[in-house]
Amino acid sequence: MTIRHHPSETTLISYAAGTLPVAIAGLVACHATVCPECRAKVRRLKMVGALLLETIEAEPPADAEVTVAVTRFAESNVLPLPRIKRPSDPVLPAPLAHYLGMSSDEIPWKTLVKGLQQYRVKLPKGSGEIRLLKARPRLRLLKHGHRGMELTMVLKGAYRDETGEYHRGDVSDLAEDIEHQPKVLSDEECICIIASEAPARYTELLPRLLQPIMGF
Ligand code: ZN
Ligand code: ZN
Repeated sequence: MTIRHHPSETTLISYAAGTLPVAIAGLVACHATVCPECRAKVRRLKMVGALLLETIEAEPPADAEVTVAVTRFAESNVLPLPRIKRPSDPVLPAPLAHYLGMSSDEIPWKTLVKGLQQYRVKLPKGSGEIRLLKARPRLRLLKHGHRGMELTMVLKGAYRDETGEYHRGDVSDLAEDIEHQPKVLSDEECICIIASEAPARYTELLPRLLQPIMGF
């Protein structure tokens, strides 16, 4: 698997520091299971963080802000890097399969519109949102932007948008001001995991009306 699109540097730093919303951290953990490059980066970042922590702890914290940052870092082992095992499911990365407690062919999909199905992963309140989306070959989604952070990782098939082509393992980590219109490529259906801290923002009138129905 050749991975061309990774979470942004800022996202990886926040992941290593344990400051990402749980949903987003979950997606980064999924990506880390298939991306040795990001695994190595996160490990390096954690080491740097630990060294910084030692330096800071050697001297009394200068102000409340530093104390908060240090405490946060110390408690950052909430979502440790997953142990890499042989993948048991062809679609779901190990952390997700483990959390869901089911395989990809047992997912109770709900149809949003023809050719597009969704499964919302239940998360504790305040953790953000994780959805799985399954789209038929060549389906074009509506043009939309995102409020807050939203990361998408391809689990099966491929899609393209204004920012490039995404295949299994690739992560789209778009800046908030970017609007895009994903289109499914190839003859294969496309399954993605989408982690966000807020629902997507649609720019056209009809999509805006459809938003409550389609739920994204
Ligand atoms: Zn990566
Ligand atoms: Zn999007």
